[in-house]
Amino acid sequence: MRAEIIAVGTELLLGQTVNTNATYISTGLAELGIDVYFQTVVGDNAVRIVQAVEIARTRADLIVFTGGLGPTQDDLTKDALAGYLNRGISIHQPSMVKIENLFTSRGMHMVESNRRQANQIEGSDPLVNDAGLAVGNALIVEGTHYVLLPGPPREMKPMFDGPAKAWLRSVMGEERRLFSRLLKFAGIGESSLEQAIIDLIEVQSDPTIAPYAKEGEVAIRLSTKALSLHEADSRLDQAELQIKERVGQYLFANEDIPLEEAVIRLLRVTGRKFASAESLTGGLLAELVTTLPGSSGEFVGGVVTYTNEMKQQLLGIPLSQLEGAGAPGAISESTAALMAERVRDLTDCDFGLSLTGVAGPSEAEGKPVGLVYFGIAERGKPTIVHKAQLSGTRDIIRVRSVKSLLYRFWQLLSAEQPGR
Ligand code: ATP
Ligand code: MG
Repeated sequence: MRAEIIAVGTELLLGQTVNTNATYISTGLAELGIDVYFQTVVGDNAVRIVQAVEIARTRADLIVFTGGLGPTQDDLTKDALAGYLNRGISIHQPSMVKIENLFTSRGMHMVESNRRQANQIEGSDPLVNDAGLAVGNALIVEGTHYVLLPGPPREMKPMFDGPAKAWLRSVMGEERRLFSRLLKFAGIGESSLEQAIIDLIEVQSDPTIAPYAKEGEVAIRLSTKALSLHEADSRLDQAELQIKERVGQYLFANEDIPLEEAVIRLLRVTGRKFASAESLTGGLLAELVTTLPGSSGEFVGGVVTYTNEMKQQLLGIPLSQLEGAGAPGAISESTAALMAERVRDLTDCDFGLSLTGVAGPSEAEGKPVGLVYFGIAERGKPTIVHKAQLSGTRDIIRVRSVKSLLYRFWQLLSAEQPGR
């Protein structure tokens, strides 16, 4: 809901009164999750009040008036708006009784014009005035919400905070929409993640916190019902912050992007590129990265060196490294390092990434299924090799291998980013 505040009063235009009501109302509307787009000030003039309404109607769903509800001839807000909306004026009887009683009880003569303060735009809901005599009004016409409040702050504030806000909440009750945010994690399993925040999951009902896993990545969906994105965001931000305090080092995005995209974005910032040499994953890393449009700026290409011959021929890794008695073998820390370094050299990239391991179903080189080494060779820096023992079927191990490498790469890149 977008709102506009129209403060009515020539004294405001003359600078004799500061428009504190607009400030007060804006603050209150923000708390309700209503965005105020415009604040208007118009004098005590029926034609110009109508002009202001005509403009506001085109750009707001809610128009809140303040001022001009009083008894005197320059109090025109209700009459002007009723005229504009083609509505008559009716009397709010309880207010009329209150006005008459006040004068009677004080033994004062009542000027007729005081009755005007019980006026109501036909078909509107009255907003009671506990601090004064002029009744407020609230109505919806053709989808636009109108709220009329008195000018004196000591009357306006209680009416706004009490009956006006209650009215707004009730009419907007149905307009609450579901907003959600996805927090994406890597390098942590679903159950460890859940364990780390289990108390938050159990206590929180708004936003709701729901973890789930897919394809080597885990995510948490935060959901909340709110009147506006603004209102939702402030709640989602708070929940995100709480979660970040616990498991922030694994959080790679607060939107629905895959890990490879988070990596590409980090590389893009610093204008760096990488190449890959894959064995057990058969090009899956290259596949995931090239699925992203525009990734050629960060990924130059890769080789699939599945057999030892290919590792030798394409990457120049000596056979003595790969096989024979006492050789480290293709599935080893040193081979992973060499693969990453050679592909980086060949392509003259900033980074070379490698993957070698046992996808299964049976062991290789006497090494267990799921044993994976992945290397990250960076220009001018010592090569890093990570070792992982992954579980799952052949396909799952291959996906997890790539995601594990991407996570380590993301960690390395994000550690360089200031402010993370
Ligand atoms: P009244 O019954 O007193 O005439 P009203 O609803 O007609 O009330 P106005 O006549 O517009 O309201 O304003 C009455 C007084 O309230 C102003 O003289 C001013 O002191 C204060 N006031 C009006 N509008 C504002 C505003 N936007 N911000 C702060 N004070 C205001
Ligand atoms: Mg007045």
